[in-house]
Amino acid sequence: MTDFPEDPVARAQRLVAHDDGAHAYQAVVPAIVQTSLFTFPSFQEMADTYAGRQTRNVYSRTTNPTVTEFERKMAALEQTDDAIGFPSGMAAISGSVLALIQPGDRIVCVRHVYPDAYRLFETLLKKWGITTTYVDGADLAAVDAALPGARILYLESPTSWMMEAHDVGALAALARKHGAVSLIDNSWATPVFQRPATLGVDLVLHSASKYIGGHSDTVAGVVAGRADLVATIRRTICPYIGAKLGPFEAWLLLRGLRTLPVRMQAHEASALTLARRLAEHAHVTRVHHPALMGTLPPGLTGTSGLFSFTVDDGIDIPAFCDALDLFHLGVSWGGHESLVVPALVTHVQAAGPNSALDFGVPASMIRLHVGLEGTEALWADLARAFQVARKDR
Ligand SMILES: *Cc1c(COP(=O)(O)O)cnc(C)c1O
Repeated sequence: MTDFPEDPVARAQRLVAHDDGAHAYQAVVPAIVQTSLFTFPSFQEMADTYAGRQTRNVYSRTTNPTVTEFERKMAALEQTDDAIGFPSGMAAISGSVLALIQPGDRIVCVRHVYPDAYRLFETLLKKWGITTTYVDGADLAAVDAALPGARILYLESPTSWMMEAHDVGALAALARKHGAVSLIDNSWATPVFQRPATLGVDLVLHSASKYIGGHSDTVAGVVAGRADLVATIRRTICPYIGAKLGPFEAWLLLRGLRTLPVRMQAHEASALTLARRLAEHAHVTRVHHPALMGTLPPGLTGTSGLFSFTVDDGIDIPAFCDALDLFHLGVSWGGHESLVVPALVTHVQAAGPNSALDFGVPASMIRLHVGLEGTEALWADLARAFQVARKDR
């Protein structure tokens, strides 16, 4: 892969706009090869394929040209050797972890990770004697102390509720020192703003349902990383778990990638403006946005459209959410549309009274995804909702 010396956004734009594989009929867009199987012209070719004397597409649970095109492009964007498409972000997470872990192993995980990753560790993996230690990713000494004997260091930076951004390079170096494999959920930053493999991380995971797809029309995932680790996942997880990205979804992701860099710049600019204005608002107690919580850690060169804030007792959170017009109530993020999620519903209520599922997200927290509707219209929506939701009104 040619390396482009220009800035990261320009590099990403070039990779997503060009550098395609061969397209049928000189079409500017790759074809959707919507097939389950591929036929052989002769006995000999079939025999050679099964004996490993030649490589070609056989069955779409293993490889499919549209999916391969997406995987190749993701590997180039993340500056890794290889990548595998999955039918969801959670399939990419569970598939990667399952491929690497043994019964009785231990995982070290940063606190406040994506809730379903946490639930995977605390339910399914716990059943097989795999335990997880949660650490503050900003406390390198604590991570260093937790790592001896661990198989995996699981990272997410920034975390998708508390927005804690870590020194990913330093954490990857600690994993290497202790012989642990490092994994990171890079859904928030995307390869436009953070390429963890260049910082020493072994495997980079995405929920492609978010910015990579970018249009809220696809659930998908991807893992990119070191050739040997990706080969292990491809050999042990894809055929037997059967969690494989389909060609139509891969095509939607390839289409989403075309505009990823320009979308990320628009999300970044709009979200930063709203976050700064919210920080000045009388009823906002804290804004959790990596650019407002100190300087960005090394390797994080931009910020996305997802951030959160806490409000004081003067705001009726249900009334605030209901008063919003452009921000729709809904989970997920990364699409063109703006979204709002109250932690009261997703964390406090979902966790229940005696919860092992206490993610440390405060009840006064509200998360926003800033879409592409226009900064001033979105600000007017927020400002009006605050007026409506004031308890002293
Ligand atoms: C949504 C999400 C996931 C899970 O991805 P799915 O595609 O929904 O399975 C993982 N990590 C983060 C940070 C997410 O936001």
